[in-house]
Amino acid sequence: MKIVIVENPRPLTAEHYNDVANAPLSASLNSGYALAVARRAGWETAYMDFTADHWDEAATAEAILAEDGDIVLFHWVYSWGYEEFVRSVLELLSRNSKAALGAFGLFPTLASARLQLFAPPLDFVLVGEFEDTLSELLPLFTKRRAVAALPGVHLRGGSYVARPLIADLSLLPAPDDVGANCAYTSLNVAASRGCYGACSFCFIHRYYGCSRRRVRDLVSLERELETRLARRNVESLYFIDPTFIGQGDGERGRAREIGEMAQRFGLPFGFETRVDGITDRLLATLAECGATSLFLGIESGCDSVLRRIGKRISTEQIRRVVRAVQNSGIELHLGFIMFEPDSTMAELQENYDFLEELGLLDRHELTANLLYHNQIVLYGSAAWERFGGEGRLLLEERLPFEARYRFRDERVGHVCTAMGRLTSAYFAALGRLRQEPSAAAVYPGSAVNALLKEAFRALCNAAQAGQSLVVESVEAECVARLQRAVAL
Ligand code: SF4
Repeated sequence: MKIVIVENPRPLTAEHYNDVANAPLSASLNSGYALAVARRAGWETAYMDFTADHWDEAATAEAILAEDGDIVLFHWVYSWGYEEFVRSVLELLSRNSKAALGAFGLFPTLASARLQLFAPPLDFVLVGEFEDTLSELLPLFTKRRAVAALPGVHLRGGSYVARPLIADLSLLPAPDDVGANCAYTSLNVAASRGCYGACSFCFIHRYYGCSRRRVRDLVSLERELETRLARRNVESLYFIDPTFIGQGDGERGRAREIGEMAQRFGLPFGFETRVDGITDRLLATLAECGATSLFLGIESGCDSVLRRIGKRISTEQIRRVVRAVQNSGIELHLGFIMFEPDSTMAELQENYDFLEELGLLDRHELTANLLYHNQIVLYGSAAWERFGGEGRLLLEERLPFEARYRFRDERVGHVCTAMGRLTSAYFAALGRLRQEPSAAAVYPGSAVNALLKEAFRALCNAAQAGQSLVVESVEAECVARLQRAVAL
């Protein structure tokens, strides 16, 4: 028996150029785990990665059919308006093969019922954490030649029963290293799953069905590293755990032990974590062990916004931790939602002042990211339900699983739109620059940084005064100045 795991195309579009958050980083190991689980069940496996391909639907379907799988399982990630493409491929597959067609991952979990209406050839969806479901499904499929109605399986037209979370993560097989992951010199690895937070915009607790963080034992982590590091050359590790450091002294001790393990392998490492898990001492220890990068989702510089999104941290905690990371030598990466949908103009100003105070607006790449991001609303998220209920969703037929929304204060919406277009021009220029490395040396980085900041302040002032026409002309002028500045 053979299973074919397929990554759907996820092309970059101008409107989503800098919207990278279509799946949490932990999703990068989903296909690798599915392949390893299938092989452990005695199945032959094939992996097909169409993320960066530009094939048409017929060629894509033909390549999948050539693998002659008994099950074709799409690791279907939100595809920015490319859902139609995947649906057409599924139709071609169902017409020309008897394989059972399924989907798994974050997007199919959150949109399971609607996705099956959208793509009728889809026979089933593996909902939520899928490894135990797949382990049970494959031997039954071998006997019955059909996908069984098991907990965790949403069959087309059937009801669905949730499956309990995996009791012991240490028993999972080491995931295969496949696809885009292999192009990086850094190895993504999971030391835990889930998060004890419940931020309103986040998908992690929805995917697992709870706000709980589970850890694996460190012996299994070390064994996995030995296995995977023998497969390819790796220069660093990246822990994709939604929150690498848990709560309490015991969990901080565990983070230290993992740091020491990375040190034994001679590899620097990066990780993502919540602000409230960090202490100065732990940071210093992890830096000594070789931690080089840290991603913190701080999200806002306003306590009112932090409360609204259920972040359960304060600006005072963020100040302390950001300064500690800056002093530790570990490179800091930030998640920040400048334009939260209920923001006021005063909160935009407070965000800006907060970022300046912490010295976070000094580099143009970081400034562009911090002054631009709005909240992405994807189907199946709490935000979709809420804005739908409040009549604030702005739907478009060509984008069935994502939506824009009405800001509570339309002036905030004007600044957000203008900054979105300005940063699109910025990212396009940066993209050209990356193709011409010789131009990087003469790139006017500090002038561009100053321009981005000036544009943000000028747009806020114009919007504050209720002058939407002035907002438009400020945007046009800033885009023109930016294009002149980067015309290398
Ligand atoms: S802390 Fe991060 S991973 Fe946890 S719920 Fe909030 S956004 Fe999600």
